[in-house]
Amino acid sequence: DIQIDIRNLGKVYGGTSSDNMVVALDGVDLRIRRGEFISLLGPSGCGKSTLLGIVAGFQSASSGTLLQNGRPIVKPDPSRTVVFQDYALFGWMTVQQNVEFGLKAKGMAKKQRAEIARSLIDMVRLTGFEEKYPHQISGGMKQRAAIARALAPDPDILLMDEPFGALDAQTRVLLQEEIARISSEAGKTVIFVTHGIDEAVFLADRVVVMSPRPGRVREEVTVPLPRP
Ligand code: ADP
Ligand code: ADP
Repeated sequence: DIQIDIRNLGKVYGGTSSDNMVVALDGVDLRIRRGEFISLLGPSGCGKSTLLGIVAGFQSASSGTLLQNGRPIVKPDPSRTVVFQDYALFGWMTVQQNVEFGLKAKGMAKKQRAEIARSLIDMVRLTGFEEKYPHQISGGMKQRAAIARALAPDPDILLMDEPFGALDAQTRVLLQEEIARISSEAGKTVIFVTHGIDEAVFLADRVVVMSPRPGRVREEVTVPLPRP
């Protein structure tokens, strides 16, 4: 059951002459099954964020095809939500309001919004912090809130771009364990961008390794590794 089908995807940034062009992606092929947890692993600059941004619909590819359930991805859609490294919470909204944001945008009634937000806030273990503003909570808690906000519209696909990169090592380990639990409980397809091998292997069903210059898939490793 292929949910995302990426074929020969290319992305070129920049101008018309070869000296100001950057080939960020050069023929990426990748098929992702429903419910799969994929880590996209590779060094800085290999095109991970570009690939994630194209799957999100934030930017367009220069060549190739990209399908979700057989239909081309052409723009952002609530069926795919993104968690960024810098949380990107709305600073003027409480945790509760941040989590409800996507539901309010969909026109959902207040009572139902509050109910869904309460269960997600519980899922990310932030119960008791609903009325706090982002500046009043720790980095780990902000990222928990960002995860709850991303899950609120009940997306099919959760895209995470180095989500724990700004956290200290101890908090990162806690959040890794949380996202492993949450993604399996919520039954989401996850694409998790990281340059950390440990994190990639710990979390994913499959690690997709990208090579730099130009960005393309070099290897795919299924986790856990088969025993010899
Ligand atoms: P990664 O996420 O693996 O660090 P990126 O997707 O951010 O890689 O970048 C891939 C390549 O594309 C890099 O060479 C980067 O400098 C270039 N790049 C990324 N965004 C832009 C942009 N908006 N304009 C021009 N070049 C870009
Ligand atoms: P994590 O969020 O991964 O559990 P943190 O280091 O972010 O780890 O926070 C650990 C715990 O410390 C939180 O769960 C919370 O109970 C408490 N805490 C941290 N920062 C604050 C804060 N600004 N106000 C109240 N409690 C906090």
